[in-house]
Order: sequence, then C-alpha cells, then structure tokens
Amino acid sequence: MFNFELDNIVAWIRDGGYSSVALQLPEGLKIRATEISDYLSERTGVKVLIIGFPCYGACDLFDYHGLADALVHFGHSPIPSQGDDHNVLYVESRSEIGLDASSVGCLKDIPERIGLLATIQYLDLIPEMASVLESTGRKAFIGKGDDRICYPGQVLGCNSSSAEAVLDDVDAFLFIGEGDFHPLAAAFGVKKEVFVFNPVTSELRNMSETRDRILRRRFAAIQTAKDADSFLVIVCSKVGQNRSAEADRVIDLIRSHGKKAYKAVMEEITPMSLMAYRVDAYVNTACPRVAMDDSARYDHPMLTVPELEIVLGDRTWDDYRFDQITPSNCPNRFCQ
Ligand code: SF4
Repeated sequence: MFNFELDNIVAWIRDGGYSSVALQLPEGLKIRATEISDYLSERTGVKVLIIGFPCYGACDLFDYHGLADALVHFGHSPIPSQGDDHNVLYVESRSEIGLDASSVGCLKDIPERIGLLATIQYLDLIPEMASVLESTGRKAFIGKGDDRICYPGQVLGCNSSSAEAVLDDVDAFLFIGEGDFHPLAAAFGVKKEVFVFNPVTSELRNMSETRDRILRRRFAAIQTAKDADSFLVIVCSKVGQNRSAEADRVIDLIRSHGKKAYKAVMEEITPMSLMAYRVDAYVNTACPRVAMDDSARYDHPMLTVPELEIVLGDRTWDDYRFDQITPSNCPNRFCQ
C-alpha cells in the first residue's frame, strides 16, 4: 500500500558508489527494516546499518557520518530549512490508494470554500480531491507553507503554515489522511473547522471535539502550573527540534517573574528522562506534541512556550496559540 521505491534506492546506491548505507525508519515502518536490508544488500552488495533509535520525523534525521557513507530516511519528506545533503535519500513512502468515487458523497455537507491539507503519505490525493470538490461547485484552496514544509498543502504535527497561508480564503479545511496527529496540528493552528477524510475507510469526521477535549486538558495543566516556583526548560538535541535560543528567552522570562529556571538538553523526552529533576513543572521547547498529546504520562505539568506565557500572566487564555516549530525559531541545519 505504501511505495518504498526499492528499485530507486538500488539505483541511487549504485550511482552514488556507496559501500555502506544507514536505514532510518519511523516506528510504524521498522517492521520492514530487515526485508529492505536484504533487498538492498542482495542487489548492490552494500553494507546496511539499521538505525535502531526511535524516529518520529525528518526533524531527527540521523547523523550517519563515520558510520555509513549515506543515509536512506523513510516515511517523511525533507524539511527544506534543515538544508540539503546529497548523501541522504528521503523515501516518502507515499500511499498508492486512490479516491473511491462512490465514497465522496460523505462530503456533501462541508462548506463551499475548502482548504485542502494532507500528510505526506496522501499528498498525491490533493489534486484529485480538488477536482471532486470543484465538480460540486465548491472552491478548493491549497496553501504553500513556510520553509519547514516541503509541499503545498502538507502539514507536519508541529507546523500548519500551509493552512495559515489560505486561512482568509476558506470556510473550513479538509485534511486527507489517517489518525489524529497531523489534522490536530491544523485544528490547533487555525481557528476554523477541520474535517478529516480517511481515504482507507472513506469516512469523514470533524476534529472539533478532539481538539476541544485536548484544549480542556491544556487549560488544567496551565492552572496547575500557576503554583510552580521552579521550571525545567527542555531543549532537544535533534536537529529539527533544537530551539536553544527560544529556551534561553524562556528562561529569562521565568526568572523575570521571580521564579527558578533550569535548562536541560536531552535526546528523548520520556517520564524516565525527567524523573530525577526536582522541579515543579516542565517547559518543552522540543516537539510541541510531547506536551500537548502525552502530558498525562508526566508527574508534573508539561507546558509549551505559549502555555508558559499564560501561566506567567504574559498571555491570556483567549489568546492561546499552538506552539509551532518554524524556520525562524528552529534555524538549525543538518551537519554536512
Ligand atoms: S517536531 Fe514533532 S511534530 Fe514536528 S516533525 Fe518532529 S516529530 Fe513531527
């Protein structure tokens, strides 16, 4: 169902003259790692190194230098602002599914002007969906995001700039994909309705209820953190999540309110990696979804940066903002 472009990878290895390659796959695709390793080594003779670390996005592109000649990164598109390395091949693993014409009747109640969004796996369905909508008299808009986004209409879990680009033109957004993770980024990032069309099940749903449920949890975390006197400000060492300068700004802000702040850098943010620190709350400058989606796993409130500003009284709840990672607040580039 997902295209792994194995013969393209074989050709790329041969053309590059590589004798060793590292394979980096997200958690859901690691089950294919040994099969891909066999395929590539049998056809090219290349030595294959499977990267065993967790991988959730192109934001944690593995630094293969000294371990392999090149890297094949599966399941994500490049993040343009991270720079280009010709020894890294992105295999986006796009879905080969099409739109089922009989199923699009479920779209009959969506508004007239629609912004189209998708996760990388279903990006090829955007033109088809635009034609379907336009055949019913609707207008489809596809926004170009900032330099963290590779393709028009694409959404990352930390960046909905493709939606913001057409926000004033549309009544609502239609996201093509599975799961809640990516459409929630759009639902948090823009104050308009976000519908999700799942191309596998042909079901349509509205993200409003899920978004509101998570926002209620965020409100509770903010209220609890108002009693905090000490904060651990977390910086992630991954190239596409490292917002060290933002962490420094946050630390100055906390201290200006007479509270204690400590800066800690880590690779993976987990309950285990935080349990040793004696603080009242965490501020996460890494992937914002760790705080927003997984906060129940932590023994103290975990806040995003805009949430901290609410805790400190520098922002109001009515002005709640999704903590996006952008090229300006995460200017790091992959070591080439
Ligand atoms: S920072 Fe989080 S949401 Fe953004 S690309 Fe990385 S894993 Fe995905």
